[in-house]
Amino acid sequence: MSVKTTIVKLPVGYREVVEENGSKVKKVHREATIKELDGYAEEAIYSSASRSNPGALITTLLQHAVTKIGDYEISPTKNKRIIESLTISDRMFLMIEIRRLIEGDILPMSAKCPYCGNNFEYEVNLAELEVSVVPDDKEPVVEIEFSTSIKDKNGNESRVAIFKYPDGKIQKEVLGAYADNVGKATTAIAERCLINFEGLIEVPPRWAAGFPLSDRKKIRKALIIDTPGYNQVLQIPCPNCGRVGETTLELDSFLA
Ligand SMILES: [Zn+2]
Repeated sequence: MSVKTTIVKLPVGYREVVEENGSKVKKVHREATIKELDGYAEEAIYSSASRSNPGALITTLLQHAVTKIGDYEISPTKNKRIIESLTISDRMFLMIEIRRLIEGDILPMSAKCPYCGNNFEYEVNLAELEVSVVPDDKEPVVEIEFSTSIKDKNGNESRVAIFKYPDGKIQKEVLGAYADNVGKATTAIAERCLINFEGLIEVPPRWAAGFPLSDRKKIRKALIIDTPGYNQVLQIPCPNCGRVGETTLELDSFLA
């Protein structure tokens, strides 16, 4: 039996620091080998443990479909930690590539026009979507400038913060705890991904909960939507009124 496989390049990659000749070197593992899913994958994906948490489900699916990342072999029993430490955007990228391998490039979607209310179907060609990449020598972090500032105990004030992109572990924790509460999920992601506010020595606990909704929207946009990888924001013209609406890419369930 021959199984379809392909090699793809991760937009962020698995990043680690290794010892080489006595000095510490940053290494980016970007090449991922993926294969078509088999019956074992299907059985694991439909098990109750993975179905109770979307983050865990993606990890299970990727452990079955990815066979290699850089120098590391991946299997259902090997290097789960690497799959979990990939950014949510790299995990989404892999899901899209697996979908392309199984079903091809054309993704049918449905939309409702925000202007005239028309419901319509359209097709996205996944091969034509833009993919943005974080180069090896750049850190996978994002800066956000808020309209609100916060203070530390010394009275220093800041409205600019640096965040890392959320990874699979954060995805599993947050979706497990707050799948039905986007507010709590946003606060949790902001707090877990914050590296620091410029010039502050610490931040007050639950700082993100006190932020206005406009600033919290910036957090979701920067950490979940405008991330490296496939451009997930699509501009779709309505066939009825011709105006262009914005929607986000949604993978169909290619297991159904
Ligand atoms: Zn319309």
